[in-house]
Amino acid sequence: MPANNLSDLFANNRAWSARRRADDPQYFARLARQQAPKYLWIGCADSRVPANDIVGLDPGELFVHRNIANVVAHTDFNCMSVLQFAIELLHVEHVIVVGHYQCSGIRCAIGGGMLGVADHWLRHIEDVQRRHADVFQSVAPHHHEDLLCELNVIEQVRNVCRTNVVRNTWRMGRPLAIHGWVYGLADGLLKDLGWSPSALPDNLEAALTACAARLQAKPR
Ligand SMILES: [Zn+2]
Repeated sequence: MPANNLSDLFANNRAWSARRRADDPQYFARLARQQAPKYLWIGCADSRVPANDIVGLDPGELFVHRNIANVVAHTDFNCMSVLQFAIELLHVEHVIVVGHYQCSGIRCAIGGGMLGVADHWLRHIEDVQRRHADVFQSVAPHHHEDLLCELNVIEQVRNVCRTNVVRNTWRMGRPLAIHGWVYGLADGLLKDLGWSPSALPDNLEAALTACAARLQAKPR
């Protein structure tokens, strides 16, 4: 039976706090005064994808939003609020959507769901797959899961670009770039999918389609 007070986690916490203070006595005092992250990370909730660790950033340097399969839905007030807070209050200059290979959310969506309430969330992923059905046709079936991870990321990049908060920021001429990355669980490496809008594209859908075509054509 595990201890129900999770004492090991508190012990870990005390040790971590002591190490931080030993390295830098002012560390917590400085962090408590302000946070000034330059980046917003929108990633998957998967426990194997620790945002700060992957990019080597300390607390205070990365604003983070995570959900199953890194979805940006315009009806999700949680995600929309995080975007607004990060951009308008904290003035982050980069929003990074980060998917990852071997994503359980992507895998469940391909398999048709049947989880319960999470199936409704995964419909967002199924919609991505359906919208890009032609892209999948020329790619071998055993690569479909990786391809859907990548297409899902660029679809969410597009969704970020379509939000009012991002459009207004660009309209005001403030620096803001949106990025789409994928993380590999097998090697711990990030990959840039090659589409990083820093202004509203003349034709957002055409830009998305062009990026999808590049992902379709790349050697795997
Ligand atoms: Zn995932």
